[in-house]
Amino acid sequence: MLFNHDLEAKRTILIVDDEPASLMILEDSITDLANVITAKNGTEAIEKATQFLPDVILLDIELPDINGFEVCINLKNNPRICNATVIFVTSHSGNQFEHQSLELGGIDFIQKPIDLRICRLRIKNHLKMKQQEALLCIAEKDLHTLVSQVPVYISYWSKEFINLFNNDFSGQWFIKKTEQSIGRFSEDILPAELNSEIILRASSNIEKHIFEVKLETSHNKIEHVQAHLNIGKDENGIQGILLTLTDITSIKQAKKSLATESERLRVTLNSIGDAVIATDEHANITFMNPIAERMTGWVIHQAIGKHIDQIMNLCDATTKHKGVNPIVIALQEKRIVAMALNCQLTSLDGRIYRVEDSAAPIRDDEGQVIGGIIVFHDVSESIAMAVKMSHLANHDQLTDLPNRILLHDRVSRACYLSTKNGLIVALMLIDIDHFKYLNDTLGHHHGDLIIKQVAKRLESIVDVNTTLARVGGDEYVLLLPDLKSANHVDAVAADIVHSMNQPFRIEGEEFNLSVSIGISINPTDSRTAEEMMAHADAAMYKAKEQGRNRFCYYSDDLEKLFHQRQSIDKLLRAAIENNSLEIFYQPKLKLSQKEVVGAEALVRLRDNVGHLISPIDFIPLAEETGLIHALGHDVLKKSCIAAKRWLDKGKPLKIAVNIAAKQFSNPKFTESVAQVLEETQLPSRYLELEVTESALMHNFDDTIKTLNDLCALGLTIAIDDFGTGYSSLSYLKLFPVDVLKIDQSFVRDMVSDDQSKNIVQAITHLAHSLNLQLVGEGIEEQAHLDMLIKFGCQEGQGYLFSRPLPEAEFEALYVFTQ
Ligand code: C2E
Ligand code: MG
Ligand code: MG
Repeated sequence: MLFNHDLEAKRTILIVDDEPASLMILEDSITDLANVITAKNGTEAIEKATQFLPDVILLDIELPDINGFEVCINLKNNPRICNATVIFVTSHSGNQFEHQSLELGGIDFIQKPIDLRICRLRIKNHLKMKQQEALLCIAEKDLHTLVSQVPVYISYWSKEFINLFNNDFSGQWFIKKTEQSIGRFSEDILPAELNSEIILRASSNIEKHIFEVKLETSHNKIEHVQAHLNIGKDENGIQGILLTLTDITSIKQAKKSLATESERLRVTLNSIGDAVIATDEHANITFMNPIAERMTGWVIHQAIGKHIDQIMNLCDATTKHKGVNPIVIALQEKRIVAMALNCQLTSLDGRIYRVEDSAAPIRDDEGQVIGGIIVFHDVSESIAMAVKMSHLANHDQLTDLPNRILLHDRVSRACYLSTKNGLIVALMLIDIDHFKYLNDTLGHHHGDLIIKQVAKRLESIVDVNTTLARVGGDEYVLLLPDLKSANHVDAVAADIVHSMNQPFRIEGEEFNLSVSIGISINPTDSRTAEEMMAHADAAMYKAKEQGRNRFCYYSDDLEKLFHQRQSIDKLLRAAIENNSLEIFYQPKLKLSQKEVVGAEALVRLRDNVGHLISPIDFIPLAEETGLIHALGHDVLKKSCIAAKRWLDKGKPLKIAVNIAAKQFSNPKFTESVAQVLEETQLPSRYLELEVTESALMHNFDDTIKTLNDLCALGLTIAIDDFGTGYSSLSYLKLFPVDVLKIDQSFVRDMVSDDQSKNIVQAITHLAHSLNLQLVGEGIEEQAHLDMLIKFGCQEGQGYLFSRPLPEAEFEALYVFTQ
C-alpha cells in the first residue's frame, strides 16, 4: 500500500424501522460489527444518512412518512451517500418487490420476521465487501498517483491503435492530455515519426522493442525518448500494445557534451606541442598524443597497457642513473610531481631528448585516484641555447676566452677558497706593449689577428687549473688559484715574457712583441677580487714604467724576494757552468766508537763577494727552474770522485749524497747514477742516496721501481729528515730502504722535550723492527749523543763531531791522517 489509509476505522450502519421492538433487536444483534445509528421514519433516515454517511443502511420499506423505496431513491440521488449499501427489510415477499428493490439500487433484502443470525452474517458480508471496495478504491487512487508521477509516459493501446490508457494527465508529454486522448487514434496523439515507428514495429513478429526516437517538437523540451514497446499477442493476433516512453534528452545531451568534450580534448592534446601520456592507476598506458609517440618512439596501439617505465626510458643526463618516472610517484603519493631536473629520455630508436615537466594523478568525482597523466617537452634545444647564451655572456667573441664577467666570478671564488684553505692566489694582468701603435699602423684586422695569436700562445703556456681571460683590447688576465707558494709565479711570468719575445707570423709577416705583466698575490697584497684586479693593474703600470717586457709584483716584499731569487738563480747557473759549485763534507761516525765511517756531501754556492749561500736558499729554486738536474749530477759526480779517491788512499768512507724530489722522479735518474758510478769507478757499496719522505710519496709504483733499480746497482738508500713527513709503517715496509736519518729537530729537542724524545724512541723501535740502520742528525751536545746511544742509534753526525767541511779540510782531518 503506497499511502497511509485508515482502513481500520469502524464502519457505520444505519437501521431504519418504525417498530421500536424490531429496531432494538436488530441494533442489539449487530452493535459489535459497526457503529449503529437508528431512524424511526424516512425523513429521519435521510437526515441521519446525510449526516453520518453510513456504509450500510438497513431500510424498512413500510415507514410511517415516506416509504423505504422513496428514501432509497432520495439517497441514491445524493452523491455524498449514493455509494452506501442499501439492504431492504420487509415483511413483503415476491418477485415484484425484489425486482423493485434491486432496480432502485438496493443490494440485498432481508425478510421479516428477521432471522437474526442470517441477518448478522449478511450484514457482516456487506461490511466486508464495503471494506474491499474501499481497498480497491485506494489501490486505484495509489496507482493513479504513481502513474501520474513517474517520469515515464505509460500508455496502452488497442490493436487498432486506439488509446485505452495513458498517464499524460497534465499534458506533460503531448498536446492532448489523458482525458482528451483516451479513445483516440495514436496518430491524433503521438508525433508522426513516433507513431509510424510504432505502427511499423507492431506489424513485426517481435514482441518487445526498445528504440530511441527524436521528438520533433515539444513544449516541455523533451527531444529524445527511449521507447519500450510491448506487443501483447495471442493466437488471435494483437491483444493490446503497451508503450512506455522515457525522456532521455538530458542523458543524450550529457553524452553529447561528453563526446564533444573528449573530442575537444583529443584535438587539443593532439595539437599541443607537449607530449602527453595518460596511465591507469597502475601506471599502465591508456593514452599517448602524437608528440609523446614521436619522443618515446612508441605508437599508441603498441604502448597501450604497457607500464610507463617501458615506454618512457628516463635517466639522469649526467650520471645516466635510471630515474623513477614522476607518474609513478604521483600515483603513489597522490600529488603533483615535477620531473627531476637534468632528466634525459631515450626513445625506442635511441634518440636522446632532454625533457622537463610534471605528472599528476587523475581522480574520480569521489577523489579516488584512477590514473595519472604526465606532460613533458623537449628542452634539448633550449638547454643547448642556454649553454650557448651562457658561453656568449661569459666569453670574449674574438678569442673565445673567458671575459671579465666570468673572470670576476672565478677570481672571487678563488679568493674565497684561498681564505678558507690557506692557499695562495696569483693574478697576472698581461698587457701587450705598444699595441695601440701596432693596431693603428697595421690596421684593425692585423690587430685582431695579433690578439688571437697572443691568446693562443698564452693558452699553450697555462695548465688546466689556470684561467686565462681577455679583459680588454690588448689585456689578458691569468688567474692561478690554489698555489702552495708564490715562487711558482715567477716561473710562469718569466715563461710568458720569454714566450712573447718569440716572433709572431701574421699573414706571412714577422712581428716582434713584448708584454708587461702586473702580478698581485692573495693574501700577500690583496684579499678580494676587486683588490686583486686593481693591484695587478698598478703592478702592470710599474712594469711599463720600468721599461716594459717584464713582470712586476704589486708587493714590494715579493718584488725584493723575486730579485733575490733572480740573482741566486744567476749565480747558480754561472756556478754550474763554471764548475764552481763546492761540496762540503760532514763526517758520519759510528757512535759507539766515535769512528768516522762516512760523510754527507752538502753542496755550497758562493756569491760574488765570497759568502756562502745556504742550500736551503737555492735548492728549492733549482727545483723550480729545473737546474736541479745539472746541480744534482754535478754534486753526485764530485762526491763519487772524492769517495773513490779516499778509497784509493786506503780510506774507505761511504759517501751520502742528497737527492731532490725532482731528481728522484726523473725517469732517467737511475741511469744517470749508474753512469756516474761507472765513470768514477766508485764501488756502489760506498754510495748512499738520501731522499726525503715526500720525494718517495709521489707515485708509489714509480717509487718502488726506482728504489728497486737503485738497490740493484748495489748502493744504499737513506730516508732523510725522517719523522717530519708521513712516517708510515706501511710505506716503509713496501720500500726497499736501508737507513733512517732521524731529523735533527727531534735530536735537538729530545733532551728537553718529552714529545721529541718519544718520537726518537719510536723511530728507533721502528728501525729495529724493520731491520733498518739509524743515523742521528744534528748531534750538537754530549747529551744528544748519550741519549741516541741509549736508544740504540748506531751512527750520527753533527757539530759535536764536526761541521760540514770544505773538501781539503775534510781530507786533511779524516782521510790523510795516520
Ligand atoms: P740535510 O740533508 O738534512 O743536511 C743536514 C743539514 O744539517 C746540513 O745543512 C748540515 O750543515 C746541517 N747540520 C749538520 N750537523 C748539524 C748540527 O749539529 N746542527 C745544526 N744545526 N745543523 C747541522 P745544509 O748543508 O745547510 O743543508 C741543508 C739541506 O739542504 C740539507 O739537509 C739537504 O736537504 C739540502 N742539501 C744540501 N746539499 C744538497 C745537495 O747537494 N743536493 C740536494 N738535493 N740537497 C742538498
Ligand atoms: Mg741529507
Ligand atoms: Mg737531514
